[in-house]
Amino acid sequence: MGRFREAAGRSRTAGMDGIELHASNGYLFTQFLSSAINKRKDEYGGPLANRARFLLDVVRAIRAEVGDDYHLQVKINAADHHDDYFLNSGKGNTLAEGIQVAQWLEAAGVDALHISTGSQFPHPRNPIGPLPAESAVDTYTAMIRSGRLSFLNYLSFRLLPTRALARWLWARKQPLLREGVNLAECRAIKEAVTIPVLCTGGFQTASVIRRAISDGECDGVTIARPLIANPDLPIIFASGADTASRPCTYCNKCLAHVLTDPLGCYDESRYDTYEAMIEEIMQIFNES
Ligand code: SF4
Repeated sequence: MGRFREAAGRSRTAGMDGIELHASNGYLFTQFLSSAINKRKDEYGGPLANRARFLLDVVRAIRAEVGDDYHLQVKINAADHHDDYFLNSGKGNTLAEGIQVAQWLEAAGVDALHISTGSQFPHPRNPIGPLPAESAVDTYTAMIRSGRLSFLNYLSFRLLPTRALARWLWARKQPLLREGVNLAECRAIKEAVTIPVLCTGGFQTASVIRRAISDGECDGVTIARPLIANPDLPIIFASGADTASRPCTYCNKCLAHVLTDPLGCYDESRYDTYEAMIEEIMQIFNES
């Protein structure tokens, strides 16, 4: 906990405007929060109040360190949807539990919430699109020692027969998923708190974003892959266009590459030639 508090203090000293704690998508805080993952028998396991103790203690410690006038937001899952992919550990945290965590975070002094989904990363709902198989194998290679189930998951991606099952489990919910996949759950959280609520979920269409905000589903959206595909997306919106001429296809090839290659869009279908794709990716090394 002290390390989080000290890091937050350093970020303020360094002149940052604020920080976000990543408490969703399977990272450390999720491993405490999620009923599908947390098997502890002490005061950090069992009921939701125990599973949320670590995150809330860190939030209070950071707030005490940085003061009340420093932006602190937390990214959480509205719900885990653990059984979208893992059939052996239940569904994890429900939306009702996500709402409760959101209310506790507000009471603990958090300035804004950032709503995501999925008990791990990658997860069929995050990011939507096909299973980035190579990335999954590489990710789990790094995580193997983090627990018994991580090794079983690694084997399921690695071995041919179970890889086919993994692909099927991943793909079965995809037709139901779309841009703004988290909006309905985000609205439920927004209605339960008074602080601003941001939503992530493949946003890249101005009319979709405008409607989400004006309908009260969220106070703003966050964007990742569509900005990798079109780094000038805000300028495209400002010009009046509803979306980019070559939008992100949600192919997830960037996830497969990101651990070993420069960050960029690797969907060749979005470029005139393979060479044009490589040239754009390598622009990251240009000085100007
Ligand atoms: S590789 Fe490009 S098109 Fe595919 S998901 Fe990533 S940014 Fe989107």
